[in-house]
Amino acid sequence: MAAEVAAVVEEVRRGFESGRTRAYEWREAQIRAIARMIAEREGEITTALRDDLAKPEIESYLHEVSMAKSSCMFALKELKNWVKPEKVKSSITTYPSTAEIVSEPLGVVLVISAWNYPFLLSIDPIVGAVAAGNAVVLKPSELAPATSSLFAKILPEYVDNSCIKVVEGAVPETTALLEQEWDKIFYTGNGKVARIVMAAAAKHLTPVVLELGGKSPVVVDSNIDLDVAAKRIVVGKWGCNNGQACIAPDYIVTTKSFAPQLVDALKTTLEKFYGKDPLASKDLSRIVNFNHFNRLTSLLDDEGISDKIVYGGQRDEKGLKIAPTLLLNVPNDSPILKDEIFGPLLPIVTVDEVEDSFNIIKSKTKPLAAYLFTKNKKLEEEFVKNISSGGMLINDIALHLSNPYLPFGGVGESGTGSYHGKFSFDAFSHKKAVLSRGFGGEARARYPPYTPQKQRI
Ligand code: NAD
Repeated sequence: MAAEVAAVVEEVRRGFESGRTRAYEWREAQIRAIARMIAEREGEITTALRDDLAKPEIESYLHEVSMAKSSCMFALKELKNWVKPEKVKSSITTYPSTAEIVSEPLGVVLVISAWNYPFLLSIDPIVGAVAAGNAVVLKPSELAPATSSLFAKILPEYVDNSCIKVVEGAVPETTALLEQEWDKIFYTGNGKVARIVMAAAAKHLTPVVLELGGKSPVVVDSNIDLDVAAKRIVVGKWGCNNGQACIAPDYIVTTKSFAPQLVDALKTTLEKFYGKDPLASKDLSRIVNFNHFNRLTSLLDDEGISDKIVYGGQRDEKGLKIAPTLLLNVPNDSPILKDEIFGPLLPIVTVDEVEDSFNIIKSKTKPLAAYLFTKNKKLEEEFVKNISSGGMLINDIALHLSNPYLPFGGVGESGTGSYHGKFSFDAFSHKKAVLSRGFGGEARARYPPYTPQKQRI
């Protein structure tokens, strides 16, 4: 298997070294082909997502298919601007000269993607890598096997196979891929594996982008439109793959006095959206596999936690389903508040004053997203100033990721590097500094002998 992997990488490197991928026309043609693939194979993509996660069709369309399409369209619209060298000012020390920043492809890049948005998380980085003129190998997640094998089947029907390839597999295949020399590794997944990726990359000084997760908090002030806030929190948590999303709300912090109203509003909204028997709802994804199901139910069965459940808690082991679950007054040091939940459980921590939420958030590692619901502008300013997170969104959930003018990525434990829109192009480019001079403008003081007169200048 190691030899097969090495042969794939060698072929892709030969493709890159042929110079083909550097041409604007090649980049454009590949992105157009990917867009065509998405349009023509949408039915198969939706079916694969349903097989892997029982993802509701509308979610598959809104959160994966249409977003992948938008990435292609945005790149096609902007590519001419992105590839242009960026003229910059000359400095007095280089006068006369011209200066520019030239974006050049890094070479052959490895994209390792995760199971929760298995289509988008593979296509998005490929679009960035190709836009920047790189050759790519994609390793989709083995935990979303239907989407992984669909990639292996359909991508070669559309793109240049000598420069864009799919290698399917699990840990052994990924380990073999990581033993190869890459010019960039783009990894989406958890922090434990990110450390393996980074250690492998270090052997060749390969730069990495690590798109990880974390405990994304939602601070809820009492000065809000409660009905709208409840709808946005519910759809941002359970309407995104049933909580199995990297920027899903992981826990809520609100005041003791406001918590009862908030819990009532969340319960009412949940019942409106998913009915009295949420396990039977077709609008909720299932848990990806038994290990994750077990991990989540163990959190609920933890000593002293089950009596905190104020809504939900039902489960169906055979169907790998867990109902949306709210837990109230969960102590900040309980296991459910330690590691990322990545599922349909939402603990609520209560504090005396809403500002006390800042210390709770700071007691944990830096999250991928931080959310605040408030009409209080001063509180909003303090939140932006005091809380460090990959991204931030005020009065909504998850939407910041769909603005291609904003970078998407983590900080600290939630990741390093970012992508989306031009940030994807930049993530896969080397910014080469190019200074050009003629033969005029000689400054004698530069040259030896360094006479006392010259030293006075
Ligand atoms: P996963 O199990 O699909 O793993 C991700 C990738 O790592 C897979 O391709 C897998 O084959 C590979 N992998 C697993 N173990 C490995 C090993 N020992 N050595 C080498 N490669 C290995 O996904 P996951 O890690 O369960 O994903 C969930 C995590 O990803 C969560 O923490 C979530 O927040 C994060 N995530 C982040 C983003 C983002 O954009 N920032 C998006 C989705 C998920």
